[in-house]
Amino acid sequence: MSNTFDGRTVLVTGAGSGIGRAMAVAFAAAGARVVVADIDGDRAKATTEGIDGLPVAADIASEESVAALVEAALGVSGTIDVLCNNAGIIDTMALPHDISPAQWRRVLDVNLTGSFLLTHAVLPHMLAQGRGAIVNTASEAGIRGGAAGAAYTASKHGVIGLTRSVAWAYAKDGIRCNALLPGPTETNIAGSAADFDTAGITRLAPVLALGERMAQPEQMAAVAVFLASDAASFVNGALVPADGGWSAA
Ligand code: NAD
Repeated sequence: MSNTFDGRTVLVTGAGSGIGRAMAVAFAAAGARVVVADIDGDRAKATTEGIDGLPVAADIASEESVAALVEAALGVSGTIDVLCNNAGIIDTMALPHDISPAQWRRVLDVNLTGSFLLTHAVLPHMLAQGRGAIVNTASEAGIRGGAAGAAYTASKHGVIGLTRSVAWAYAKDGIRCNALLPGPTETNIAGSAADFDTAGITRLAPVLALGERMAQPEQMAAVAVFLASDAASFVNGALVPADGGWSAA
């Protein structure tokens, strides 16, 4: 079993920054052609400098945008061998009684529905190929109630449900689906929320303090590459924390 991606096409969302950018670079280094998708087209383009990648501006929360993204990705080689549903936004850390319905909807639309829309659009092609690997970037907030605000927490619990549903449904079709659960990682994600909610942060502080060490995006990308590779051929439906031990606390 190897973890080479020679001749394979890998689609990474949110690949213009942070963990997604590191994934794009790592998959390219492993031989893949990478479709670098981001809502910010300039960021996507910047990621492709120096790697074998196709930048695509796409909003994963939009069905039309997702359809165009999948069409562009299929134009690379006719297949999508790996899908990394990685794009995501943080909430303001607001507690359930304080979060606005508008913020709830946007966070759920991007983090959960966006991952669903892309999975839904890519699966028919993976089924036709008889193989494929999906890696969903969840979060520590997907297994805890106190690691983020209500919207982000619910969205990431949903991503874990989606991961397990897909893993089970297509286990006999050569398609695997696993979740990466990053701990605190140095990226630009804080910029995706407006003002943080002081009451929420105060309530979450004891749990946040357990995530003692900050990771680099490359440490997350290495796990995603493994999960998508043939070396993980019997790993399906797994939740893989990469959090320096936070989830063990
Ligand atoms: P980041 O903000 O650095 O990168 C996220 C990228 O996603 C950005 O380039 C942004 O433009 C893009 N994006 C946002 N909305 C989009 C949309 N609708 N369509 C397409 N692209 C969109 O953040 P990051 O930390 O690298 O986040 C990547 C993933 O990791 C997210 O799913 C996040 O929830 C998860 N995560 C991050 C941390 C952390 O500490 N950084 C911890 C746990 C989980």
